[in-house]
Amino acid sequence: MQRIQSYWEEKYYFRDLDVVIIGAGIVGLSTGISLLEKNPGLKILILERSSIPYGASTRNAGFACFGSPTELLSELDQSSSDEVFELFARRYAGIQSLLSRTGNRKIGYEKLGGHEVLTADQEISTSQIDRLNHYINGATGISHYFKQRNELLTSFDLKGFTQCIYTLHEACLDPMLMLQALQQIYQQQGGRILYGVNLEDWEDQGSSVSLKIFGDYHFNTSDLVIATNGFAQEILPDIDVRAARNLVLLLRPQKGTPVRGCFHYHKGYVYFRHCDDKLLIGGGRHTDIENEYTSEMNINFQIQQYLLDFVTKHILHDQTFELVSQWPGILGLGSARKPIIQKISGHVVVAVRLSGIGIAIGTLVGSEAAELVLNNPQKTHG
Ligand SMILES: Cc1cc2nc3c(=O)[nH]c(=O)nc-3n(C[C@H](O)[C@H](O)[C@H](O)COP(=O)(O)OP(=O)(O)OC[C@H]3O[C@@H](n4cnc5c(N)ncnc54)[C@H](O)[C@@H]3O)c2cc1C
Repeated sequence: MQRIQSYWEEKYYFRDLDVVIIGAGIVGLSTGISLLEKNPGLKILILERSSIPYGASTRNAGFACFGSPTELLSELDQSSSDEVFELFARRYAGIQSLLSRTGNRKIGYEKLGGHEVLTADQEISTSQIDRLNHYINGATGISHYFKQRNELLTSFDLKGFTQCIYTLHEACLDPMLMLQALQQIYQQQGGRILYGVNLEDWEDQGSSVSLKIFGDYHFNTSDLVIATNGFAQEILPDIDVRAARNLVLLLRPQKGTPVRGCFHYHKGYVYFRHCDDKLLIGGGRHTDIENEYTSEMNINFQIQQYLLDFVTKHILHDQTFELVSQWPGILGLGSARKPIIQKISGHVVVAVRLSGIGIAIGTLVGSEAAELVLNNPQKTHG
C-alpha cells in the first residue's frame, strides 16, 4: 500500500538516518541499544513488520538456559569441546548481560533452577556428568554445575523417568516483559521504532543504503542491520538460515501444576515449566522434523498430540487438564549452531541464525553487530 508522508513524519522518521535495523526482536533492539550506548548521537530507526513482533522473541518458552546434559553430550559428538563450551559460556554471559541491562524483576526472571529428566534407556553416567562439569568449570569458572538429584522426580511427582540432573543456574523469564523492557531502554535513549512496516527491498548504493517500504516509498540510511533471524531468507535468499517452527502449549491442570522451574527432556527437544498457575510445554520438533522446516504460523497437530501424550504420561498423570492456549514460534537454524554476524556489503550487517538460543545470546549478538557498524571504515556518521 502506498502512503504519502507529511513533512513532519518524513523529518522525524526518515531523514538523516545513521542506522536502520530490520526486526524488533531481542537482536534488533539489543543492536539499537548497544549502538546508542556507544554513540548516543546516532539517529536510529527500527522497522518491524508486525504490530507485535512476530518472530521468536515473544513466542519462546521463556527459558534462561545454557544447555542440558544430553544436549551438550550430543553437541560433543559433532563438535570439539572448545566449540561446545565456548557457546555454553556465551549463553551464560549473554544472560548476565541481559540482566545487567534490564534488571531481574522487570523481565520476570525467576531463578528456580533447571532439570533434565531422563528415562531408563537415556540415563547418563556419573563420569559423563563429571566430564561436563569439568568443561563448564573451565569455560565459566562455575564448579559442580550439574548434580544428579533423582529425588526431585518424586518431589515434582514426575512419572516414567529414572534420572534427574539439576543445575541451580537456570531460570525462567517472561519474554514479553523482556522485549518491553528492551524497547523502553532503546526508546529512552532516543531510538525510534515503526511497527507494521515491512522492508520490501534494499540496495547498498556505495555511500548509503536505499530502502523501500509502504509499496513505493524510498529513503536512505548510512548503515543497515538485518536482524530478522528465521525470516532472513526472505530478504537474503542465499543465506544459510532455515526457518524452523516450534510449538508451545499452555495447559491449566485441574489441581495445579506440580513443577516449578525449567525442565528439559531428550537433548532439549522437549521443555516444560510452570507458568503462573499453569503448565507450559513446548518442542517435539524431532517427531516431525522435515515438516517443521517452515515459517508458516500453523499448529502441527501431530506434535500437539505428542506433547499432550507426554504431559498425560509424565507430568499430569493423576489429574485432568485443559488446553488454554497454543502458539507456534519460528527459529532460525542452519548448518552450524552459531549466529551469523557479518558485514555482507559496505554498509549492510546481518545478525541472524540464533539457533534456538537467542534469548541467551541475543544481547551479545546485538553488541557485536553494533561493533561491526561502528567500526565501519566507510562510516559517514558519528
Ligand atoms: C518455542 C521457542 C522456544 C525457544 N526457547 C529458547 C530458549 O529456551 N532459550 C533461548 O535462548 N532461546 C530460545 N528460543 C529462541 C529465541 O527465542 C530466538 O533465538 C530469539 O528470540 C531470536 O531473536 P531475533 O531478534 O534474532 O529474531 P526474532 O525474535 O525472530 O525477530 C525477528 C523479527 O523480524 C521481523 N521481520 C522479519 N522480516 C521483516 C521485514 N522484511 N521487515 C520488517 N520486519 C521483519 C519479524 O516480524 C520478527 O519480529 C526459542 C524460540 C522458540 C520459537
